[in-house]
Amino acid sequence: KRRRDGPEDLEPPSKRLKDSVLVAEHYNARQDVGIQQRLESPIIGLKSFNNWIKSVLIAKWAAPSLVPANGRRTNAMFGKILDLGCGKGGDLQKWQKARVKEYYGLDIAATSVEQARFRHQSFRPSQRFHAVFQALDCYSHPLSDVLGPDVLSSPFDVVSMQFCMHYAFQNLAKVRQMLDNVSRWLRVGGRFVGTIPNSEQLLERLKGLPSDAEELSFGNAVYKIQFDNRDIQTYGQRYSFFLKDAVEDVPEYVVHWDNFVELAKEYGLHLLIRKEFHEVFQEEQEHADYGPLLKRMKVVDAQGVSQMDEDQWEAANIYIVFAFEKR
Ligand code: SAM
Repeated sequence: KRRRDGPEDLEPPSKRLKDSVLVAEHYNARQDVGIQQRLESPIIGLKSFNNWIKSVLIAKWAAPSLVPANGRRTNAMFGKILDLGCGKGGDLQKWQKARVKEYYGLDIAATSVEQARFRHQSFRPSQRFHAVFQALDCYSHPLSDVLGPDVLSSPFDVVSMQFCMHYAFQNLAKVRQMLDNVSRWLRVGGRFVGTIPNSEQLLERLKGLPSDAEELSFGNAVYKIQFDNRDIQTYGQRYSFFLKDAVEDVPEYVVHWDNFVELAKEYGLHLLIRKEFHEVFQEEQEHADYGPLLKRMKVVDAQGVSQMDEDQWEAANIYIVFAFEKR
């Protein structure tokens, strides 16, 4: 096996551009279906589970830094959050529940950003918070390209990146731009939370493929991951990802975790937690708030039976949650 540590620059700029265009086009093309159609998705159990995981992450690891300086959390709206790769605004309700006062959602896919804006506008006025949506390639451009000094003069309390950070790992320059965007405007003591695929698991599965395999792929009826080759690269280790009724063969990149944690430190970001999704489930399923939420979010039915079949469980367990603190 070859190991390439570095320079992203081995990849021609035209290819780098093409992948981010593909990603944006893919997400732009996916329709924002209504609630009824969402409930009829063949992977509704998995989608609900992912949403439950994000709700727990936000409530347990992000909301604690949405606290006024006097430390007293009241029911009043408080705090300022940045949602990088916000997509169609799937987490708006979670932030509303966290009583956030100001929300900034950015995404490379302009159509998704419009849909997120529309989703926020459809909230009841009593549920609405100050929300700004902008299209931006957050891995190639600074936030200051779309957010003015009026916004950036006071720092964010939380930066959230859900199911999107791995797209930055195409090359080191993108990862650095992404980390700069996360950290530069985050207050000391603020949190950086997210969800990404578990590189260790992906690489284990890749290693386990027979040496004469025709295709470097694994998965099941719900998902498929196909690597370009067996080379281990810190940046730009590409695979194609398919998830039934959600993602169609989009190029993604392995996040080499230990390397990422070290790099994040350069930006003042220190790791608090890293957990696989199933660990979060084991630890929180009996929790006084998050346990009942499993039913309300339809992860389990009224009898407590999981809505996910084995294939969906396997797909869910590819992912990890993380939280960092800015110091
Ligand atoms: N965070 C949302 C959620 O959890 O529902 C959306 C997740 S979706 C799987 C991944 C998102 O990452 C897409 O909306 C995509 O457009 C966005 N994305 C990918 N590359 C990006 C980039 N360079 N800058 C900003 N957003 C990007």
